[in-house]
Amino acid sequence: MTETTRFYQAFQPDHYQVYLDIDRGTKVISGKTTISGQASTAQIAIHQKDLAVTTVVADGAAVPFTLDQANDALRIELPQAGAVSLTITYTAPLTDTMMGIYPSYYELNGVKEQIIGTQFETNAARQAFPCVDEPEAKATFDLAIKYDERPGETTLSNMPELRVENGVHYFETTVKMSTYLVAFAFGELQSKLTTTKSGVQVGVFGTKAHAAKELDFALDIAKRSIEFYEDFYQTPYPLPHSWQLALPDFSAGAMENWGLVTYREAYLLIDPDNTALQMKQLVATVIAHELAHQWFGDLVTMKWWDDLWLNESFANMMEYVAIDAIEPDWHVWELFQKSDVPAALTRDATDGVQSVHVTVEDPAEIDSLFDGAIVYAKGARMLVMVRALLGDEALRAGLKNYFAAHQYGNATGADLWAALGAASGMDVGAIMQSWLEQPGYPVVSASVVAGQLTISQQQFFIGAGQESGRQWQIPLNSNYDAAPTIMTEKQVVLGDYATLRAATGQPFRLNVGNNSHFIVKYDQTLLADLLQQAPAMDPISQLQILQDLRLLAEGHQISYADLVPLLPKFANSAASLTNAALYRVVNNLKKFVEPDSAAEKNLQAFVDQLSAGQMARLGWTAQAGESIDDQMTRPFILDAAQYAKNPQAIAAAHEIFSANQADLGALPAETRPYILTNEVVHYGSTALFDRLLADYRHSADASYKSSLCFALTKTPDPDLIARLVTAFEDADTIKPQDLRAWYSNVLNNKAGQQAAWDWLRNEWSWLEKTVGGDMEFPTYITVTTGAFRTPERLAEFKAFFEPKINESGLMREIKMDTKVIEGRVALIADEQAAVNAAVADVVAK
Ligand SMILES: [Zn+2]
Repeated sequence: MTETTRFYQAFQPDHYQVYLDIDRGTKVISGKTTISGQASTAQIAIHQKDLAVTTVVADGAAVPFTLDQANDALRIELPQAGAVSLTITYTAPLTDTMMGIYPSYYELNGVKEQIIGTQFETNAARQAFPCVDEPEAKATFDLAIKYDERPGETTLSNMPELRVENGVHYFETTVKMSTYLVAFAFGELQSKLTTTKSGVQVGVFGTKAHAAKELDFALDIAKRSIEFYEDFYQTPYPLPHSWQLALPDFSAGAMENWGLVTYREAYLLIDPDNTALQMKQLVATVIAHELAHQWFGDLVTMKWWDDLWLNESFANMMEYVAIDAIEPDWHVWELFQKSDVPAALTRDATDGVQSVHVTVEDPAEIDSLFDGAIVYAKGARMLVMVRALLGDEALRAGLKNYFAAHQYGNATGADLWAALGAASGMDVGAIMQSWLEQPGYPVVSASVVAGQLTISQQQFFIGAGQESGRQWQIPLNSNYDAAPTIMTEKQVVLGDYATLRAATGQPFRLNVGNNSHFIVKYDQTLLADLLQQAPAMDPISQLQILQDLRLLAEGHQISYADLVPLLPKFANSAASLTNAALYRVVNNLKKFVEPDSAAEKNLQAFVDQLSAGQMARLGWTAQAGESIDDQMTRPFILDAAQYAKNPQAIAAAHEIFSANQADLGALPAETRPYILTNEVVHYGSTALFDRLLADYRHSADASYKSSLCFALTKTPDPDLIARLVTAFEDADTIKPQDLRAWYSNVLNNKAGQQAAWDWLRNEWSWLEKTVGGDMEFPTYITVTTGAFRTPERLAEFKAFFEPKINESGLMREIKMDTKVIEGRVALIADEQAAVNAAVADVVAK
């Protein structure tokens, strides 16, 4: 399928009247859409997908039309070019694909119920009604919705309801907007409402399967986020209301439909009395992300999907800016350093990765652009670099002008750089060019050459990489004034090292604060100096040292074995940032040991040495008033103790489990996944398994369900694993939206890998049919890759996926992932003996 011409060029809609009659019983949608606009030629095309079009009327007279399914097109012959009003009648199926108009299922008092909702990004509005389904084709919309309505149901859309007449719900005319942001939903819902300082109505909606108090947290965060953005952007929220709706079936995390944001239940509804702080932070950042889009994405929209990054990178940065402003005690930028930064640095080191900005024409390729680690995480890092260079004052002034110039219209990356450049007097576009248009990132090598402190840049790869002479404009953030603000050359000599070292009195450092997208390779002299000071450094510096060394080891630039003796220096840190980086290295060591080998026993003993002190200090139970760092560190320690088979930890968790048998959901959410896992692994039985799986099936608490999935998939029992794999295709047990987590967890269980991998290969066509239309689909390949470490699995991976390389949207993923596994297999072959010897050595001491 190719789409080299945009339909918008031939026909520019300015207003839609969309009438939909949706029958949940027969699963049929009947529609009538009237589009008024300007035709530049007599032959025009409108997007449609799977619509059975019955009539097309132009200005009152029937006109000839053809359906071109290959191009998602309805081709229409008009009598002439010019202003025209088109009326199209059609029917369409209501399907369970989580795209277009679709039902979400849930259980209430033992009865299966449904909510109808929509998901149109990127190009599924055409499945609901005929339209020019391109972000540039902005228009106003009058929505009228009828359905097999029962008393007590609620109907929501982008705008407030105007009236109900003969069972038809009419909504106010929208502002000018893109088709992918149109949304509506109906069903039996509960809600909580509030109003912002400026008078915007804010609401949270969910099914009645949830306790009412689960809506409170989201309502508070949504209200305060909108108030924050109105101030930060100096631009009012553009609509009368902002609804947040939790849908039981939802493919992505959330979707920024203008005025009616939709979420996975797990990312909106939380139990205020028993939710881990990590989860609260995650939910808050998701809400703040979607609400950032209400301006950046909805009010001003990218002109075409190649600038998707403009939407997503920006919202991904702003979610942290906003939550840091409204909940400063959380230090939410630490979450960015622990999750987004390592994700971007790992993915972006693979040869063949996409750049942040990508040209794209084929609609089938658009969904594959949502590479989270690049478009979201790396892109956000680019903008964090820009923010650090500009400062907030210039950033805000630039944004205000950007919104004023492009509101209700479209923009490109160049427009944003122009606005920020005008506000700051800096050529932002020139600096950002090298980061946006080129894939990958540099490693900056710092060394003392003949007494001169010298830095040089080169592209960094994990696995095989084709060196192609790429260079970046790098904000260096050095603690030595001799280093330039922006490194533009391949190599820079900073001066006599001894003199510089004496003058500053500090080890030489680059990328202080870890906000620029590069890593540093210090030579032996500089690294020894740095490591000497490391135990006394701030947590972010410690995280950075461990992170850069880990990446260099993954990239075969230093030996993994050399990292092993450094780890105990960081083991007793109270900072969760340091522990996050430390245990990331530890988890990366696991690939070097064979299951049930002496080397594995040594590694377990090493992990026990690292974690035992913290395990004794923190214990299984949170202390009243303990620090956020302690709360955030505990999961790393419990996970480590579990791997280490620490006997005191195993016994203590069993005791807590036994005391709480009656209501496992009430176990503290922070420690619940580990307590349940401990029980499944060390005290497991079929009865326990049955009970946990039944709890999973019937619970509406996403956080508890996630604990249960975490624990159940750790079972060492092959019969129980077989039962889990059977449940993969039972949507009443595991919803398709949650399946990837189950699959990935079983695959990472050494007792379950074969069964999960066999399932994926045998059931690929089922999987494709069930979630293939969805932008998450290629990530099934990514998680498979994450678990594979042997030449045998590499060969199986290639045998299975190489024949699929030309399937739309999968080529890049298959090529990259093959390189990732090849790189890992080669690394293990080269380093396994040395790493295991280094571990044995530390354990023996
Ligand atoms: Zn987004």
